[in-house]
Amino acid sequence: MKDIYVLRLSHRPARDKRVTTHVVLVARAFGAKGVYIEGEDPNLISSVDKAIEIWGGKSYFKVETVKDGKSVVDLWREKGGLVIHLTMYGMHICKRIDEISKIEKPMLVIVGSEKVDGWYYHNVDYNLAVGNQPHSEIAALALFLDRLYKGRELYNTFEDSRLKIIPQEVGKKVVKNG
Ligand code: SAM
Repeated sequence: MKDIYVLRLSHRPARDKRVTTHVVLVARAFGAKGVYIEGEDPNLISSVDKAIEIWGGKSYFKVETVKDGKSVVDLWREKGGLVIHLTMYGMHICKRIDEISKIEKPMLVIVGSEKVDGWYYHNVDYNLAVGNQPHSEIAALALFLDRLYKGRELYNTFEDSRLKIIPQEVGKKVVKNG
């Protein structure tokens, strides 16, 4: 697994609970090691912690809230990490993904919510568009991780999960893990 963290900007508890939760679930399921959420939301943290407890990743997957996303970016770059901002205004993912895949540095992947402050466009290594059409931070993150891992992330398993799904043609089968 690569060293990838996600920074979710401007989380507004009243409006963004569901979308930010999905950003976290996508990050965990598809091969990131944690998410920084800009904003305060203890309820969201406890609900995603519950999901991680049941489905695994507790030993390494960290979700934390931060006051200011810009400080996270500054620190990340000071430490020599790579910062990628997903935005419909950026360069097409197909033109940059091979180059990015070869970079062996911890990666911070930024997704916005409503309006992203112009500062981010000038203080990242890549502004990357998952197609130059507006869609969603959840879709952009999922597709970015999928292109980076070339589909291998869909086979991720979690050793420390409490439950495990046994795939069925029809119906549901969930068993205790281990
Ligand atoms: N209008 C906002 C702005 O100033 O960028 C974007 C709003 S959009 C609903 C929320 C987030 O989804 C964006 O900040 C970006 O991270 C992501 N997003 C939406 N469309 C995208 C695309 N085509 N490529 C990459 N990311 C995208």
